[in-house]
Amino acid sequence: KEEAVYCIGCGARLQSEQAGERGYTPQSSYDKGIETGELYCQRCFKLRHYNQLEKVSTSEDEFLALLNDLSNKDALIVNVIDIFDVSGSIISGLNRFTGDNPVLLVANKLDLLPKSLNPNRLQNWLQGQLKDLGIKVDDILLLSAKKRKAVDELLDKIESMRHGKDVYIMGVTNVGKSTIINRLLQSTGVDAQVITTSQYPGTTLDLIEIPFEDDSVLVDTPGIIHSNQMTSLLDLDDLKLVMPADELRPRTYQLNDQQTLFMGGLARFDYLSGEKMGITAYFSRRLDIHRRKLEGSDEFYDKHLGGLLTPPQAGTIAEFPTLVRREFHIRENTDLVISGLGWLNIPKAADIAIHVPRGIAVYLRSPLI
Ligand code: GDP
Repeated sequence: KEEAVYCIGCGARLQSEQAGERGYTPQSSYDKGIETGELYCQRCFKLRHYNQLEKVSTSEDEFLALLNDLSNKDALIVNVIDIFDVSGSIISGLNRFTGDNPVLLVANKLDLLPKSLNPNRLQNWLQGQLKDLGIKVDDILLLSAKKRKAVDELLDKIESMRHGKDVYIMGVTNVGKSTIINRLLQSTGVDAQVITTSQYPGTTLDLIEIPFEDDSVLVDTPGIIHSNQMTSLLDLDDLKLVMPADELRPRTYQLNDQQTLFMGGLARFDYLSGEKMGITAYFSRRLDIHRRKLEGSDEFYDKHLGGLLTPPQAGTIAEFPTLVRREFHIRENTDLVISGLGWLNIPKAADIAIHVPRGIAVYLRSPLI
């Protein structure tokens, strides 16, 4: 029987039988890969060479089974979250999965937040969020894997917390686990760009084990796309527009009541009643925000979706869900978060409505900035 061979990009077991399933690679590429050592599944190969994304079935059940297994390990658990999308990347009931193991929470993508933000304040804010969710962690570290900020601190923290045990890196898809691991490997002198990182959600599959010197291992668990994230609705071109690549650009609009903001065609904010105030939008700088009067905004949306209001692109609006409206009464300075997309800061009491695609989560939280 043939020995199992794994994709060096994502860790999936390579197979040539079922196209579209994990680890698929055509037989010819497989044979070539064996010769050259470039053993990638078709998906990782395409990601590396053409930046194309293919949908592969990853089930929530498999992810949960893997998570459940973590509590049986004797290890340090590093849970990575995305500071830009805390609600969308935090794992509720985390402690059920981690058991008695120590947990280090790593909040990645710090570079997306405005540089003026005070790190202590951010740390306190995050602690408050965790407390509200009943999540207990042993330590928190804010970092930017992309900008290599605090990567050495992470390594030091891992070393001091693991006491010779294995380390499991876990988190939902797209929080930057693979990027962090690549950075850690670089910091330890192992220059191995072997783990696929990509701009698109859903690219870390299966377990990847990386040996430490003392026979312990660093393990990357698969991520899962939280289906309530905006990013699960969009095609590749649109994703590029809405996923922020660099520091968010806060845009402040002095709004009177009965005015509306469209975040492309993805979401709509109505200021129903309250005094004139400056509402600040934190979204990708490439996402156009369109302001107009509230009156007639339904018709305006129907008419301009895919045109003036993009994303979604004209060709994809047929599959784009209709927007669902929710009303909120805001009492004091509050952030209104649209999971995976960004947030609006509403500084004073107001009645507002938010329209988002069905299934996309909206949260209120105390202001981050
Ligand atoms: P994984 O699915 O958790 O393994 O996430 P990846 O490592 O594949 O990263 C997902 C996306 O986030 C990629 O586009 C990365 O370039 C990006 N990313 C990772 N770390 C950072 C970071 O510190 N800052 C920013 N802005 N983007 C990051």
